[in-house]
Amino acid sequence: MHTPLDIPALIATLRRVLPERERIALHEPEFGLAERQALLECLDSGYVSTVGKHVERFEGELAAYTGASHVVAVVNGTAALHIALKLVGVEQGDEVLMPALSFVATANAASYCGARPHFVDSEFTSLGMDAAALDEHLRHIAVASKEGWRNRETGARLAAIVPMHTFGHPVDLDALVALSERWHIPLVEDAAESLGSFYKGRHTGRAGRISALSFNGNKIITTGGGGAILTEDAKLAERARHITTTARVGRGWTFQHDEVGYNYRMPNLNAALGCAQVMRLPAFVAEKRTLAARYREALRDVAGLKFVAEPADTQSNYWLCAVLLDEARGNTSCDLRDTVLQATNELGIMTRPAWNLLHTLPMYADCPRAALPVAEALARRLINLPSSPHLGRV
Ligand SMILES: *Cc1c(COP(=O)(O)O)cnc(C)c1O
Repeated sequence: MHTPLDIPALIATLRRVLPERERIALHEPEFGLAERQALLECLDSGYVSTVGKHVERFEGELAAYTGASHVVAVVNGTAALHIALKLVGVEQGDEVLMPALSFVATANAASYCGARPHFVDSEFTSLGMDAAALDEHLRHIAVASKEGWRNRETGARLAAIVPMHTFGHPVDLDALVALSERWHIPLVEDAAESLGSFYKGRHTGRAGRISALSFNGNKIITTGGGGAILTEDAKLAERARHITTTARVGRGWTFQHDEVGYNYRMPNLNAALGCAQVMRLPAFVAEKRTLAARYREALRDVAGLKFVAEPADTQSNYWLCAVLLDEARGNTSCDLRDTVLQATNELGIMTRPAWNLLHTLPMYADCPRAALPVAEALARRLINLPSSPHLGRV
């Protein structure tokens, strides 16, 4: 269905929902007295670097909030994904199934393992990985081998399935867990955008064997830079702790290491900030949901677009609010989207397009991929709206 977009009505509506300011950011972090105090206390203690009481406390708070059995805090979300993939057995020459519509970090993490991304399509409801389309794709391209399923064209092993919760909206995890079990390919959730998002009452990042969170400056809470690994598996958690702290063994002053490790653990200073931020997470989520409800209600009468609402049976953190533009059948241009981006940004309302699809980036152009009709349509039609928590404060 195609209705011409009413751009003046869209702009009038955004102005009505948003406060009167010269410039409204896409997403701003927010810090108060608690953050200042936590950082100063950490400086005064002298323990600013690798491991300290704030790291353990932050991990404990995240475990309590998400319900995850084990949490390992690391330097950023990309590092968390890298280790998650490594721990489910992704190796040199493998392929990792992931949505083409994601941030570049999802693909980079596979590359760090010496593997290649294998891009699959998304669906309109969640904006995330389409389990049915992936199942169909696997039926066409997968052949069984002793080591597991292989891509019949490249010969590479299909080593992991990595869905991502786009803008905080949970993907259909039940369908993806069933798919992962049917094909015996481990599921790793890129939950970088979905801290505070729940699927059927359960926090995202708990359905995969192992998952990754991010606390980058633009995410729902921030530690400056930071990430975390979530898992229900005690052995995997122990392995994650070990290889993210240079694989050190023994105690005292011996510099003994038993494999090639990584210097990936979150510094205490960042964790101190995280401890203060995580206390505000429930309020941030509530404010973002209020903002989303306002956008949704106000945009209902604007012709030619639809507000992207959380899928049924999920509770989204609405990390980034978004609209999906209507489009005439057969359209392959981004012109309408770019006109809206131009008009809103000129007024100081920071809107943004979705990511360029990963297979269009030069380093991933030759990677294997399924047909991507929905991802392509979404990339042309999605626009993110200003989404800072304070915009939803009454
Ligand atoms: C933010 C993000 C990451 C990576 O997190 P960093 O902490 O920036 O390394 C990974 N995947 C997705 C989808 C993200 O949005």
